[in-house]
Amino acid sequence: MNTCEMTENYVMKTYNRYPISFIKGEGCYLYDENGKKYLDFLAGIAVCNLGHSNEEILKTICEQAKTLIHTSNLFHIKPQAKLAQLITGNSFGDKVFFCNSGAEANEGAIKLARRYAFEKGKKGYEIIAFKNSFHGRTFASVSVTGQGKYNEGFGPMLSEVKFAKFNNIDSVKEIISEKTCGIIVEPIQGEGGIIPAKEHFLKELRKLATDFDTILIFDEVQTGIGRTGKLFAYQHYGIKPDVMTLAKALGNGIPIGAIVTNEKTSTILKPGLHASTFGGNFLSTAAGVKVMEIISNPEFLKNVEEKGAYLKEKIEKLQKELPEAISEIRGKGLMVGTVLKINGKSLVQKALKKGLIINVTGGNILRLVPPLTIEKEEIDIGIELLKSTIKEIS
Ligand SMILES: *Cc1c(COP(=O)(O)O)cnc(C)c1O
Repeated sequence: MNTCEMTENYVMKTYNRYPISFIKGEGCYLYDENGKKYLDFLAGIAVCNLGHSNEEILKTICEQAKTLIHTSNLFHIKPQAKLAQLITGNSFGDKVFFCNSGAEANEGAIKLARRYAFEKGKKGYEIIAFKNSFHGRTFASVSVTGQGKYNEGFGPMLSEVKFAKFNNIDSVKEIISEKTCGIIVEPIQGEGGIIPAKEHFLKELRKLATDFDTILIFDEVQTGIGRTGKLFAYQHYGIKPDVMTLAKALGNGIPIGAIVTNEKTSTILKPGLHASTFGGNFLSTAAGVKVMEIISNPEFLKNVEEKGAYLKEKIEKLQKELPEAISEIRGKGLMVGTVLKINGKSLVQKALKKGLIINVTGGNILRLVPPLTIEKEEIDIGIELLKSTIKEIS
């Protein structure tokens, strides 16, 4: 049996997979079982921000694995403390809680908002979330996800969740009240189709959250860790959330999630109120420390910004050449979305045949999220492959 057949036979079919299984990665390239080479413009869905088999990350996790992997949070964990220091030192954060995924981080953030309302004796427990958002697959996180297809047939969802329109502050004003305990929002909607929040919208949201004494949660699971050209996307907007959730790229592929809190919110979760067996263990946080040390470097981030601008420029050129295939282009840094007028699914399949890994999300939006370590020459190669694939289709 080959890998595809084994998956078919033994793995629950919760994914539609491409008939490819990779066996090796190196920088921005992946290699399949037949030795075919692919340029990776997906990075494991914005996870491998430092590329595949990054030497510094490898060295760190190999050494950590040889020394100590897990002891539980009944004891102190040096790389966990160090990672918390790095995250708070480079953000608005005061304290950090570690978990294992994005959904779990959002789950904890929602619990925190509810608990804040409880301790403050607020009048209600409502959470405001946004249409077209994505926050994960656990019950609370899928309950605040504003896309029906993810929660259909799983109801009843978490109660007291209200949805407003993204980038529409009036729709928030209509539903916010003394009963609101939290607002959860992505600074750039990722799965929803790479839709950046407008500055005015987030600033007004910040004001409303303060006026109603409600916890403003930024889900930076996809936008965080340098993806947008700043370490965290909120830093583009000149405001700060109360709570920020992280995951995807924080461990460059080692599972890890985090809840970052400001001073107002950092003492709400007390011993016994929230926990995780694996959360913040030696292996994942050692990886996180190395990731943060590399990506928080201003030179590195400047480079991401430059390469993001370069990629966008190239896509804009492509759009001018092929206006019948591409319309709008949006995003920040190396998180670029392109509205397609052609069938995205067949574009992805044809690109794979040519050795280019791309992804379509939010209906028919081409999402380009390559490793942040990508070189301009590799962007050129990817764009050429994309161009010839589009031409084949149109
Ligand atoms: C991927 C993602 C999640 C879910 O993360 P998991 O690790 O899959 O649970 C949550 N929020 C956003 C914005 C994401 O992109």
